[in-house]
Amino acid sequence: MVSDSLLPLAGRTVLGIFAHPDDESLACGGTLARLADAGARVILLCASHGEAGSISDPALVPDGNLGAVRARELRDAAAVLGIAEVILLDHPDGDLRWVQVPELHQEIVATILRCRPDAVITFAEDGLYWHLDHIGVHERTFTAVRSFGAAAPPLYYVTMQLGVMREMVDAAHGKGGAPPDSSFWGIAPDAFGDGAKPPTFVIDVRDWVPRKLAALRCHRTQIGRNNPMAWIDDDEARQWLGVEQFRRAPLEATGEGILEHLGEIQHAD
Ligand SMILES: [Zn+2]
Repeated sequence: MVSDSLLPLAGRTVLGIFAHPDDESLACGGTLARLADAGARVILLCASHGEAGSISDPALVPDGNLGAVRARELRDAAAVLGIAEVILLDHPDGDLRWVQVPELHQEIVATILRCRPDAVITFAEDGLYWHLDHIGVHERTFTAVRSFGAAAPPLYYVTMQLGVMREMVDAAHGKGGAPPDSSFWGIAPDAFGDGAKPPTFVIDVRDWVPRKLAALRCHRTQIGRNNPMAWIDDDEARQWLGVEQFRRAPLEATGEGILEHLGEIQHAD
């Protein structure tokens, strides 16, 4: 395998655009950490503070301000992943697809103008598990990137592997944790990756899985004792979180794809 340090990633800028604190770690924390290690400047734009999310332990949010706690969790996770800059917006969690649509579009455009990314990563059409906020961010990001026409940076969609979340639940249950009907944030394990279009390339992030798991666990309000992710160790996590899958968005721009340098091509189509 070619060392990442020999790949043309040093000095490049990669912009990840997601909906809530923790999406970045779950969707592609391994790739973001791998890019940062290879010398890329990784920037994260998160559209909301995730203030409508679940709370694993009320003691973590004594004043009830979940958005403020999740902002801190996101900064901790970003530090673990080597993210250089976090842009945390304050759009209303739960309504990202419908509320403040022009504002979010403009903020994404302005961020692209300021940061000049060599690649942008966001959710695919399925929003990881058909989460409407994720789908809204997918839509806004696609439209914003497309507005640059021939000068648009390459846009990548990240999806999750179907079946891995179910295996994680079963493993956690086998250790006495996470009841068999347990979910991830109230989402059935089988919803993750369901109906996603196949990736065109995948990135092996097994060596970065300990950091991905550590970043996920920074989101303490989201990963409590009942979350299966609290029960798996690094070796197990490598099986289920060690591959991240991507597809390049259909845009007229034909800029050099830089993420493919890390990946293994899956399909010709
Ligand atoms: Zn989310």
